[in-house]
Parts: sequence; C-alpha cells; structure tokens
Amino acid sequence: MSVIQPRGWCPTLFAPMQSGDGLLARIRPPGCILTAAQARAVAAAAATFGNGIVDLGNRASVQVRGLRVDTLAAFTAAMLDAGLALPDPAAEARRAVIAPVLAGDDPSASRHGAAVAQQVADMLAGETALAPLPGKFGCLADAGGVLPLGGIAADVRVMLDGESCRVALDGSWLAAACAPQDAAAVVRALLLAFLALAPDCPAPPRRMRNLVADIGAQAVFTQAGLAAEPAAALAAPDSTVGWVAYSGAGGTFLAAPPFGSLHATTLAALADLSERTADGLLRVTPFRALALCGAGDPATLADAVAALGLLSGPADPRGRVAACPGAPACGAAGAATRADAALLAQSGFSGTLHVSGCAKGCAHPEPAGFVLTAEAGGYALIRHGRAGDPPVLRGLSLPQAAALLRESQTA
Ligand code: SF4
Repeated sequence: MSVIQPRGWCPTLFAPMQSGDGLLARIRPPGCILTAAQARAVAAAAATFGNGIVDLGNRASVQVRGLRVDTLAAFTAAMLDAGLALPDPAAEARRAVIAPVLAGDDPSASRHGAAVAQQVADMLAGETALAPLPGKFGCLADAGGVLPLGGIAADVRVMLDGESCRVALDGSWLAAACAPQDAAAVVRALLLAFLALAPDCPAPPRRMRNLVADIGAQAVFTQAGLAAEPAAALAAPDSTVGWVAYSGAGGTFLAAPPFGSLHATTLAALADLSERTADGLLRVTPFRALALCGAGDPATLADAVAALGLLSGPADPRGRVAACPGAPACGAAGAATRADAALLAQSGFSGTLHVSGCAKGCAHPEPAGFVLTAEAGGYALIRHGRAGDPPVLRGLSLPQAAALLRESQTA
C-alpha cells in the first residue's frame, strides 16, 4: 500500500509526495537507462494516471506529476510491469545509485562502470541493515570519459578511472582504493560506519557530508576498517547538452527538455527517435537530459530534437537557466517560475540564472550568477548566490527583472 509523503520528503514510486498539482512519484530506471518500451510505458502511464508532465531529476530519476489517490495503484502496477522498480518498497527505496551515463558506449570511460553501478544497487537493495539510512542518501558510480560526474554530489562516490577504483565520501577527497569488483563491499562498509557513528554526534547528521564535517572523513574510514588517502576528483563534463563527441569516432546526443520538464508525448517521441536513429535507449542523466547513444548524423538529430521543443545545443540560452516547477505545481511557490524563466531566457544575459519559487531553491542548490526568488511582493534578486541568500533588490516585477538582466549584458 502506498504511503503519501508530505512536501519536502524524498518520494519514491511506493511513497509519492503531495505537491501542488497532485501526487509526484519518482522512478529510478535500473542502470539509469530506459529502453524505448519502458519510456513509452512511463509516457502512457503519466498521460493516463497523471497530468502528463514528466520531470527529470538531478539524481538521474524520472518524476511523474499529477497522480491521484485513485490512479496511484494502477500507475504503480504499470511501472512494476515495465520493470522499472523492485516489488519490495523498502528495497526500492534503498536502491539509489547514479550510474555512469555512457557506460558501455563511450570508449574512454572505464569498462567497469555499468557492473560496479549494478553491484552497488544490488547490495543496497539486499542489505536490510541499511534500512535506517536517511531517505535522501544516495551513491554514485563515476566512470570518467566524456561525461564524468565530478559535479554531482553523492553521499558515497565510486570513482573509476580505467582499472583504478577509489571510494570517497561527500565532503572529503580522502578515498579508499579497491578492486572494481570490491567497490560494493566498500560502499556497504562506509554506509554501516555512518549508521554506527551518527548517533554519537551532538546533532545526529542526516547526510554523509554532515558526519564528515562533524568528525572528519578519516574517522568514518577507520570505523569501516578501511585505509584512505587523498584522491583527486574526476572532472565535470564540458557540455551536457547537444552532441558530445567521443575521442576518436562517434559520440552521444544529449536532448535536454527546458528546465528538465517534458510532456509524456515528447518522451514517447524521443523513444521513437532513439529507435530510428540511435541504439533504442534513453539514458537518464543527472544533468536533466536524456542521452541517445549510437546516434548517426548530429545535425539531423539536432533538428529532430529541436522540433520536439527540446534544447539541442549549448547555444540555447535556456540551458543556462534553472527553474523549479513553481506555481501551480508546487504549493510553496510565489510565482509561475517556468513560464517566467522561459521569458527571461530571451531577455539576453550572460552567465547563469536561477528562477526559484521560494527560498528553498530546489532546482539549483548551487550558486548562480543571477537568482530571482519569488516572494510575496515580487521577485528578490540575489547576485552570485543561492535562492535563500540575502537579496540586493526586492519587489521586482517580471519586466523589471528582465530589464535588469538586459542591463547586465551591456554593463
Ligand atoms: S523551490 Fe520551487 S519547487 Fe522547491 S519548494 Fe520552493 S517553490 Fe516548491
């Protein structure tokens, strides 16, 4: 039976979250890959049982919006039939792993990426001793290559570089070296260490980075019985939209919906496009884009993706704008952020813009060059900060905000 979570909790398929436009359920495609058939199943279920809106999450998840209490059971059954979740709700909740985006396709990525991600996911699903972990806990396997995950946070991070494998904690670059086939056991030991150490902290930490800040990463590795030494992070990718070439021949095409949100019909059309022109898969990335691998002519693909209303290259200014669902989708929102963001994207500005429905800043936890946070009297402007930081101006209307962005371009 599904349990509906209040806003702000971490939703799953079996525990959807109440939002302004209905219930929101989060799906974690196994290996962060949707087959064309699975993508069509999500699209059909979103249109039939939800409001047809599908969001891509920054944890490589797919979120279906606008579900209702009376459609939830049928939606859950459809996702289970499609092989998109485990039948055990507790195991499904623990199975939070971001997999290497291009595993098996990018020749410059570690060949161990997909197997390590699968082993970590299987370990998490099967290890009931990890049930007390906070719901937002998540792991990541980074295989490097042309789409490394260096900019994506995770409580425990496996970093693969060729045959080398290291496991690090969020908030520190100390890492334990191991063979790739032992990575899941190392991740397990570190998560159990968190559970053993967290209760002794004055304010029990909710994430690994909080524990690391309290007692240091070395203490966590020691508790886990692991030796650790400093390790460099894998890089962040140069581009996360449009054609990304592999070293040598070939590449992948990242189709990015504006602000990470697309309609079910567009998702189904992308599944058809991948079957016609690529490998028939949609790889779900933490960059809020879907990757089509084995693709043919990049220009033809760019035209097809643009015809679907998606970003097809880094020149599209919407790629520099983050916006949360806003009103009416979120009950906490003070503005229709995505509609406003679409207009502001055309105003001409340099740098990055974050349009947030409230100070929580869900769409972009990191700082942005310009932040517009909706408040009771209009937008508050924050420069080089986060949605909840002190503003430099308040009470801005949308035209006033657009004018400020335009002026910044010419200043
Ligand atoms: S940031 Fe946006 S989505 Fe998050 S709680 Fe505020 S209004 Fe809602």
